[in-house]
Amino acid sequence: MAKLLTCPCGTPITGRDDEFVARVDAHLQAEHAGRTYPADMIWAMASDIDDTDVLD
Ligand SMILES: [Zn+2]
Repeated sequence: MAKLLTCPCGTPITGRDDEFVARVDAHLQAEHAGRTYPADMIWAMASDIDDTDVLD
């Protein structure tokens, strides 16, 4: 499985389950001055998507 989270800035972040939180963290570090979200909040906000819908 994979997950999709649309950041409040409008950027869609996707990743397979084993990399999803790291991808969200990378976006926050790069675009939001090192802001972090707890992993459980990231999971709660994420939607299930198919592996084939993961963006590079
Ligand atoms: Zn963002």
